[in-house]
Amino acid sequence: MAAPSKIPPATLARLAKLGIRHRADLLLHLPLRYEDETRLEPIETAEPGRTMQVQGVITHSEIAFRPRRTLLCRLRDETGELALRFLHFYPSQTSMLAKGQHIRAIGEVRMGFHGLEMVHPKCSKTEADTPLKISLTPVYPTTAGLSQTALRKLIANALEVISMPEHLPEYLRMRLKLWDFSESVKILHNPAPDTPAASLEDRSHPAWRRIKFDELLAQQISMRVHHNERSARKAHALKAKGHFGEALLKSLPFNLTSAQQKVAKEISIDLEKPHPMQRLLLGDVGSGKTIVAALAALQAIENGYQVAFMAPTEILAEQHYLKLLDWLTPLGITPVWLSGSLKQKEKRLAAERIASGETLLAIGTHALFQQQVGFYRLGLVIVDEQHKFGVGQRLALHEKGKEKTVEPHQLMMSATPIPRTLAMSYYADLDVSVIDTLPPGRTPVTTKLVSDARREEVFERVRSACLAGQQAYWVCPLIDESETLELQSAMETYRQLCIAFPELRVGLVHGRMESSEKAHVMNAFKAGALQLLVATTVIEVGVDVPNASLMVIDHAERMGLAQLHQLRGRVGRGAQHSLCILLFQQPLSELARTRLKVIFENTDGFAIAEQDLILRGPGELLGARQSGVAMLRFADINADEDLLEHARATADLLLRDHPDAARGYLQRWMAKKHEFLHA
Ligand code: ADP
Ligand code: MG
Repeated sequence: MAAPSKIPPATLARLAKLGIRHRADLLLHLPLRYEDETRLEPIETAEPGRTMQVQGVITHSEIAFRPRRTLLCRLRDETGELALRFLHFYPSQTSMLAKGQHIRAIGEVRMGFHGLEMVHPKCSKTEADTPLKISLTPVYPTTAGLSQTALRKLIANALEVISMPEHLPEYLRMRLKLWDFSESVKILHNPAPDTPAASLEDRSHPAWRRIKFDELLAQQISMRVHHNERSARKAHALKAKGHFGEALLKSLPFNLTSAQQKVAKEISIDLEKPHPMQRLLLGDVGSGKTIVAALAALQAIENGYQVAFMAPTEILAEQHYLKLLDWLTPLGITPVWLSGSLKQKEKRLAAERIASGETLLAIGTHALFQQQVGFYRLGLVIVDEQHKFGVGQRLALHEKGKEKTVEPHQLMMSATPIPRTLAMSYYADLDVSVIDTLPPGRTPVTTKLVSDARREEVFERVRSACLAGQQAYWVCPLIDESETLELQSAMETYRQLCIAFPELRVGLVHGRMESSEKAHVMNAFKAGALQLLVATTVIEVGVDVPNASLMVIDHAERMGLAQLHQLRGRVGRGAQHSLCILLFQQPLSELARTRLKVIFENTDGFAIAEQDLILRGPGELLGARQSGVAMLRFADINADEDLLEHARATADLLLRDHPDAARGYLQRWMAKKHEFLHA
């Protein structure tokens, strides 16, 4: 066996940028694509768009200076001629490409000004009998300062010196009809010339399937391990006594739907266990998650434990606060409010009441989990719209819990339905409860797509609806790059609408307002004092005003699917028929057109989320891209759903019957990423 090559520190740093920290990681640094240097093609077969390798003699070579310094050559073989063009070049290249030289060039052919050409082809000097490569040449993802050649050498060396034991027991490999692991890795780095290019490219080749399966399997094992470890951790067992819950339910003007009852029961059973619950409560917008959360909170409170109820925005947190204040005060429970925008003194007072245990229910934004706030006996953490918090914060919360020997239970809620494949793959460490039906008495929302050219008609619609006693939202355009611009545009829209509707009472709410101001406007709208509410997307999550039955979303083409679905969910909460108008500006991009079509054709959040997953990919959907969570590198959970199913079943089996193999998988795939995957 060859000796492991020495890797200089500068190269190590560059490798680290690619996520390669151990020599073995090089093996799983797989090519993006391949170049075929195993054959020579006659120049006469060149056509634009084709990547090919040709060989011949340089018949002409000059450095032109206009429009910019360019090395121009002509290469001829027995069948034809082709131009080679270089915009950046070294003296060594000029001499290699001098007239009369024999060279081999590989590159993509395109149509240039003077006919067919290759721009920056890879060239090498040849003799007539210089041998061709025997396998396809891998092209790896790389980073500045690390050349393909250097990376290829490192990987080739790793392939020689590192052994790749097969972790998958033979009988499982046979049953799943998978190729051998080490064989697959070798093939992907150095495929034989006759390997069907398409199967390498679309990753359907059996070698790719094996790698993707292993990646998914490692992820599943990691999640399972984490899930199982939970039963070794301790939490307070919160007995379901039920008297507070019953009293609350009696006081409500509605009965729980059977879906709500089912999930409430699942949560209640979890809370009784002496191990921390980690449950995700999924329910479409308006499905009634808050009452379920309140019942969970009461179970903790009945046992004398504290509850922290956290929401991602002040508006939403405040709504929860007001709602729970209303629901729970009659039971003798007074929640405390804590958010970043409270005055220093109020904050201190709230923190004191939490620390002394005087209050058992704290509601607020993430300020609840800042350093200064110490809980007396925290039994349950409820996180609403948890996907809004991003993976990083979820991790922080998790770590915070770990400091203590006894951890709080966690209930996470989300109205962004997670497609099943995604839930299986990224949330496998959580238990999931789903509210799959909406409360009765809701009338479905009609959605209309209207071009901005017909804005005036929309104005009339808003006017007549409001004059007829309905209430309406006008959602302002989203401006991605600047919050300031967004604010300006919201102010401007507000001004225009005030002018357009002198007879209506119009309000404005946006993200930069003081929270007391925001609350004031929201309450006025809720009470019916305002008829039209101009809002930025701050109202996207959780706002609940049943009498509002018309929503206009301005520049809907700029918004994402999840956002549109959430916004639309703000109407259709009462008995009257609701309408959501999506105003869009022409011309529409292909993506915007698709999104509007999806939102127009679907009302079911899960169906929309499936489409979203296809359009955006899992990273974006989870909001995890920025936070650096280890995403899948090779498998695609849409295309590889069958592999995911097998991986899930196999993970359980390995952990039960072949723990060494399971460890091998974690070691190979997860050594550094373990922490993040658990977030
Ligand atoms: P979300 O799941 O979007 O958080 P909410 O908890 O805000 O939904 O509930 C939406 C609305 O439905 C609220 O006004 C709530 O009081 C009401 N609601 C909840 N459950 C029921 C039910 N079983 N029957 C009728 N209305 C309900
Ligand atoms: Mg909600």
